[in-house]
Amino acid sequence: MDSKRRDFLKIAGLTAIAGIAAPSAFNTLLKGEAFAAGGHGAAAPTGKRYGMVIDVKKFTENPGLAEQCISACHTIHNVPDFGNRKDEIKWLWVESYEHAFTTASQYKRPDALKDMPILTLCNHCDKPPCVRACPTKATYKKKDGIVGMDYHRCIGCRFCMAACPYGARSFNWRDPRGKDANGQPFIKSENPKYPARMRGVVEKCNFCTERLAIGQIPACVEVAAQTKAIVFGDINDPESEISQVLKTSFTIQRNPAIGTYPSLFYII
Ligand code: SF4
Repeated sequence: MDSKRRDFLKIAGLTAIAGIAAPSAFNTLLKGEAFAAGGHGAAAPTGKRYGMVIDVKKFTENPGLAEQCISACHTIHNVPDFGNRKDEIKWLWVESYEHAFTTASQYKRPDALKDMPILTLCNHCDKPPCVRACPTKATYKKKDGIVGMDYHRCIGCRFCMAACPYGARSFNWRDPRGKDANGQPFIKSENPKYPARMRGVVEKCNFCTERLAIGQIPACVEVAAQTKAIVFGDINDPESEISQVLKTSFTIQRNPAIGTYPSLFYII
């Protein structure tokens, strides 16, 4: 750990102690906001706001597509594979319907839902509790709606993980640049264009903000392009493709009633 980071930790630690009860306070605040807003996951009306529509049926129709998306995302972003669930780092992953949509009624649900692969990731919430919980501003919301991370500011307090209601964040208990007992690197093929993280740092999906900056689309969207299983774009632009999809398809969000206003929508 370099001295700059150590100094930063000392300052941030005091802030973190002061905010030790933060997650429960955020939950209370969120509940209040959900009541005020009606809890329907509406979009902030102005400015750019990137969002995503995932058509779950298309993943069922194309077996292996979800895994291809995950592989592309994790390879590009140097997501380490520690080889066990306990230490798992995930930016993009598959959940079952009942785990992804915990507040949806499971009573008499169609059998087909049981095995549907639900691709899950950070929801890039419009009112992200993780941002409020972070004592060092390591996680922040950008003007385009993307919830980003500055890995160098992260002190590993994991308040953001406690505050995220979707389990969208992972913590590096081990050094991602390290090797397993057989000498195999946790990052199979390091992408020099994206920074690898360090031990003690939280990470999550960034909506491929680094690719958007150079005119590319997110890696998972690119992989699924032929199937149109994922549509990405500005949900505040009424002319965008994603706005057209949202206007014409019935979509649901993960637990919108808590007032986080997810930017991810699912066609089930
Ligand atoms: Fe933050 Fe979790 Fe929302 Fe992502 S899904 S913005 S990590 S609260």
